[in-house]
Amino acid sequence: MSYKKKITILGATGSIGKSAADVILSAPERFDVQCVTANTNAELLAAQAVKLKAKRAVIADETKYDLLKSKLDGTGIETAAGAQALEGAASEPADLILAGIVGIAGLKPIMKAIEQGACVAIANKEPLVAAGPLVMAAAKKYGTTLLPVDSEHNAVFQVFDFERPEGIEKITLTASGGPFLNRTSEEMAKATPEQAIAHPNWSMGRKISVDSATMMNKALEIIEAHYLFNIEPNKIDVLIHPQSVIHSMVHYKDGSVLAQMGASDMRTPIAHVLAWPERMETPGQKLDLTQVNKLTFEAPDFKQFPALQRAYKCLERGLYACVALNAANEVAVEAFLTNNIGFLDIMDCIDHILGKTKSAKLDTITDIIEFDENIRAETRDFIANGVTKKAAQAS
Ligand code: NAD
Ligand code: MG
Repeated sequence: MSYKKKITILGATGSIGKSAADVILSAPERFDVQCVTANTNAELLAAQAVKLKAKRAVIADETKYDLLKSKLDGTGIETAAGAQALEGAASEPADLILAGIVGIAGLKPIMKAIEQGACVAIANKEPLVAAGPLVMAAAKKYGTTLLPVDSEHNAVFQVFDFERPEGIEKITLTASGGPFLNRTSEEMAKATPEQAIAHPNWSMGRKISVDSATMMNKALEIIEAHYLFNIEPNKIDVLIHPQSVIHSMVHYKDGSVLAQMGASDMRTPIAHVLAWPERMETPGQKLDLTQVNKLTFEAPDFKQFPALQRAYKCLERGLYACVALNAANEVAVEAFLTNNIGFLDIMDCIDHILGKTKSAKLDTITDIIEFDENIRAETRDFIANGVTKKAAQAS
């Protein structure tokens, strides 16, 4: 029998986790699942663990431990709970750890996974945005291969000449434009969470769906690309491509442009990283260009989507600004999803925080987490005291 890759899935109950489960279950001869983790949904985590024949299931929320344990009773699957156990899951030997947690919550597990020294497939972009230099340095130190799962970065990875990066002129990240492309700011001001998460092409978790609607997702992706490919911000641009067929491209000095195409289905980049450096069948959709009537492209409208420029500005200011951008955005998006602020208030919160945040030296993960927590508290204060009034006036 040929060797089976040992896989751990951090965030096994989310959109990325479920797509990964689909890919793994389509090729059980290739994979052995070690650990699966989740935040609070013990029932779904137990179901995923059973389906994937995982050795261990770990839930971050300790109050859900008994439920998880009872659901897995008699299956032989080990259980554990809490932040330490989550980091423990990331530290266990595996050939590939898929980082599919959402938000900065995934930072410590990603660092543990990297220290473990195998391959880490990163979907969870927020830790790269907030701690890119530390994540990349750790990967170098431990000899860990980072494989990008985000469709744009996975596309770039597939066509990027890592041996001769000096031949690369720039990279272009494509963006669908999200559900509010071509909407007026009056329409956007009234947008509800349901409208914001209704993405035209991709089915994803709630946070990234709102990020796609503000285009903060693309802003985070600019920062993510800067670190993953060690490329200057002025060599990263964004192109609106509403059909999401070309997932990104690399422009070479000689005028050649290499792009990766595929259906809008995360199972393709996930299958790519799970099988890497081999290739495997995907249970997902395949691209049929005869069904794609036309491919269109346009420059992004920075006035309608100011988030994009914030990415370049924060990279220019330094790491602390990227941490602030990410933290303020996470808090503001959550406030929008719980109907505490309006859609356009998300950007107001971020700009308020970026305006008042002063430079700080962040050398360690502990520094970053502490700084991130302060920014979160300030954003919550601002929401409690300021933006809510504006949102109420707008409605
Ligand atoms: P999701 O909300 O559907 O799932 C998030 C997962 O993380 C769940 O399993 C949840 O239990 C876990 N989680 C959440 N908070 C946690 C915490 N505090 N501690 C431990 N676990 C926690 O999100 P998603 O859409 O799957 O996105 C996951 C990550 O992948 C995000 O960073 C997102 O930006 C990125 N990403 C997602 C897609 C996509 O298609 N969904 C595409 C590209 C990149
Ligand atoms: Mg993406």
